[in-house]
Amino acid sequence: MNIPISKASITEVEIRWALEAVTNGWGTRGNEYIARFEQRFKDHVGAAHAIATSSATGALHMGLAALGVGPGDEVLLADINWIATLAPIRYLGAIPIFTEVDPRSLCMDPEDAAKKITPRTKAIVVTHLYGNLCDMNRLLELGETHGIPIIEDAAEAMGSYFFQRHAGTMGHFGVFSFHGSKTMTTGEGGMLITQDENLYERVLMLSHHGRSKDETRQFYPAAIGFKYKTTNMAAAIGIGQLERIDQLLTKRREVFEYYRDGLKDFALEMNPEPQGCINGLWMPTFVVGEHSNFNRELLIRQAKARGVDLRSVFWPLSGLDCVQAQNTTEKAFALSLRGVNLPSYFDITHSEMDTVIGTVADGLHDQGIR
Ligand SMILES: *Cc1c(COP(=O)(O)O)cnc(C)c1O
Repeated sequence: MNIPISKASITEVEIRWALEAVTNGWGTRGNEYIARFEQRFKDHVGAAHAIATSSATGALHMGLAALGVGPGDEVLLADINWIATLAPIRYLGAIPIFTEVDPRSLCMDPEDAAKKITPRTKAIVVTHLYGNLCDMNRLLELGETHGIPIIEDAAEAMGSYFFQRHAGTMGHFGVFSFHGSKTMTTGEGGMLITQDENLYERVLMLSHHGRSKDETRQFYPAAIGFKYKTTNMAAAIGIGQLERIDQLLTKRREVFEYYRDGLKDFALEMNPEPQGCINGLWMPTFVVGEHSNFNRELLIRQAKARGVDLRSVFWPLSGLDCVQAQNTTEKAFALSLRGVNLPSYFDITHSEMDTVIGTVADGLHDQGIR
């Protein structure tokens, strides 16, 4: 591919931090860069507590375990989602229950979620898909009414704000991903944030292989915990990326606006930014109109032949064979087939974006889509 879907931006800033960590971050300084990264991250997003992990998947697994999610419990999530949002639910033996999505944001439809709550519902995981924000007012209210914790999968939502509150800070806990494709990266990595001190203490204990900080005996775990720690080197790269976060986010917006202008002659919906919200715009995404006969796979194939890496909006998880879903959705299925992600990365040039726009425009014209 000449134009990949995503690519990290690593500069002297990150390299300096990584070099410093790999040189010094050993022995008594074995946790130093991780602790600094956690501190800076929680200050940046406005969270009381942060635990850096090796992935968002691991962060979600530990957080759900700390909430006591277990066999037979039901956990709600939107059907259009990455598998990483579902996997930890299944690791714990719980049952994923799939909801419809809002046609504009592609995030959980709160009204459908309300209908799917049962006495067994233990948690609701809401994903801010592609940087688009969930309707947090409705979802938090729903959780409060039923006494069910709301968890935010903010893996894709760095830089997204809901009425001045950063994505991930509003629910019982939030998780972020620093995978190489995300807005900021540490290679692989994640973060769990929470405002709840008790939950933090419990996740911290689990994250140390079940060792409590109050235990005086050495190597004496109180529970079967987890090992999802990150490294000083990865954390140091994260510090560098955080120092550049405004720059990284500004470019995301420029790329989004360039595509939006370039495709404005088509009746496409792109990432929404409702009143009061700032969209971090992790991945520029378009959805074609409901009544068009859009062949998404054909467009992606044609683009590939021209060196452009388009991606399909996530398949509804309830349709995957490996999931063996207990329930399914209708609207989310139809919607997902009409959605496409566009390449975006810090170093993308106008000429590359022109190639993407030209490829998409030709493909849509061929299919008679306006
Ligand atoms: C990337 C992503 C994850 C997983 O992140 P990892 O760090 O790869 O575990 C989870 N949820 C969503 C919505 C994602 O996009």
